[in-house]
Amino acid sequence: MKKIVVVAIFLMVSLNLQVHLARSESKGIAGAAEAAANKDDDDADASSFGSGSDDTAMVLLHNGYVYTPRFLGKAHVLLAGGSVAAIFKEGDFPLANFSGLPCLKIIDVEEGFVVPGLIDMHVHVTGGGGEMGPASRTAEGKISELLEAGITTVVGILGTDCVSRSLENLRSKVAALQDEGITAWMWSGCYRVPSPTLTGSLVRDMQLIQEVIGAGEIAISDHRSSWPSTQELLGLVTDARVGGMLSGKVGLVHFHTGSAASRLDPLWAVMEASKGAIPITQMLPTHISGRGPGLLQAAEEWVAQGGRVDFTADQDGETQSFNALMDWGKRFGNAALTGVSLSSDGFGSLPKFNSKGELEEYAVASPSANLDTIRRLVLQGGWKLEDALVFSTTNPASFLDFKNKGVLKVGGDADVVVLNAQTLQLQYVIARGKVLKTPEWTYSGMFGKQKLPTASSSSQPVDHFRHDTCNNDNDNDVWVETTCKLTNPEAGTRCAS
Ligand SMILES: [Zn+2]
Repeated sequence: MKKIVVVAIFLMVSLNLQVHLARSESKGIAGAAEAAANKDDDDADASSFGSGSDDTAMVLLHNGYVYTPRFLGKAHVLLAGGSVAAIFKEGDFPLANFSGLPCLKIIDVEEGFVVPGLIDMHVHVTGGGGEMGPASRTAEGKISELLEAGITTVVGILGTDCVSRSLENLRSKVAALQDEGITAWMWSGCYRVPSPTLTGSLVRDMQLIQEVIGAGEIAISDHRSSWPSTQELLGLVTDARVGGMLSGKVGLVHFHTGSAASRLDPLWAVMEASKGAIPITQMLPTHISGRGPGLLQAAEEWVAQGGRVDFTADQDGETQSFNALMDWGKRFGNAALTGVSLSSDGFGSLPKFNSKGELEEYAVASPSANLDTIRRLVLQGGWKLEDALVFSTTNPASFLDFKNKGVLKVGGDADVVVLNAQTLQLQYVIARGKVLKTPEWTYSGMFGKQKLPTASSSSQPVDHFRHDTCNNDNDNDVWVETTCKLTNPEAGTRCAS
């Protein structure tokens, strides 16, 4: 952190240049870097949990097209102290001015698209499933799999199995993901009502456990649901609301919606029973796009009344979310879809039951479904990237009240993804200011080799930093293995060999 302040002062004193900043920020680059460096002290509210980074390196992404997700044009993005310190044009602040700074990594993103890291509110990070017996329990997710999906903020969740899967395990897993560099939250509960909790009640969970943002996934209109009464659901939603108020978090209930004809009726019944006391935004139903036209129609009404809905992104060979978003986009306007988010159901099971309730197919969901669906909307559906990105950036950030997430703005979290401009394939993932994926390697945690070569790369990981003046003295620094080889010796590096 000390280095950032030194850099900020250096920039303020010696450069004193005006830069173009995203949004209406009018501070110079130095002020922005300083603000980012001091951010940990200022932002102490619950929604900033997961913000910031203990890595003192600054990263400059240059030569990219920036989407905030709104298209900003060609610009450079400077990350410092785990935050976005500045967004500026080359003409406003030539790259040469950065040479000699004490700890800076410059990445030439080769005219790629620089976009916010994706948010996925529905990931079975500890595994799920089990609908075909014990052998069908799905495996726990890995940090590398989330990074390969462009996800920098995840909300972990339990599902059908509330017995062999526990909230204690889920809490430990999200804490591990947080340690590994991304931002990780969790839902308390599972399909059933009453649901398990960590501390005896949902309100206590929310107030005492930092990672808990509400209850989920509570099953309605599904043959695996406990068919809770309206009174039970009203109590649960109220607890989530009160827990949210007391903990400064969003406090909503995330509902798994099945294919029964009752659709969203249980939620309308809660609205009716509360006589207007509970805002519709306190309930967020998911799996909207995969249950046929009836549920989509019910969801349209829900959104028309101010509610929000979550679509489960398309897995390989699926088209439901793509088709539904194309249809809604045509009828309401792509840019108007502010009430819809996408989530992957990652690492959960994908059982398909026939009309007799018999299991016909079984698969495991990949977290890459979000980016795949966004890519398809753009490349096949002709959407603007900025309109397609909102489903995994600004919309979920707004639904879940993640203030510094889902947007590239000065002072926002340094959660950034770089996509190839032609194919929209993932190039880089940076979470809380740390580069965790490049085109050649993906960070794979403590028990991996630290960096896994990507599937397309047959050789050993190579470094991608064009310029690196870091001394790499941080034990947790994932660049240690390779950056020293490529470090510019003239920059005065002190890398250990
Ligand atoms: Zn579900």
